[in-house]
Amino acid sequence: MVEGAAMAKKHQRTQGKRSSSGSALQQGGIIDTETFIDISNVQIVCRACGKPTRVGHRIEGDGSRVRLCRKCGEDL
Ligand SMILES: [Zn+2]
Repeated sequence: MVEGAAMAKKHQRTQGKRSSSGSALQQGGIIDTETFIDISNVQIVCRACGKPTRVGHRIEGDGSRVRLCRKCGEDL
């Protein structure tokens, strides 16, 4: 996720120049939006199954919320 933020900064420095993703760079607002998407798309790697996964939640009997792997169902 740190990599994504660094990339976004790099993009901003090249603002105004032509690049492969050209049109987006000409509109400053879109760059910020892309940064947000990068961060929210970062996946957690499950310790149990070793795969990148999304985080699910399970409510325990005492009401506490436990994060779990959606691939294998193990607690994170
Ligand atoms: Zn897993």
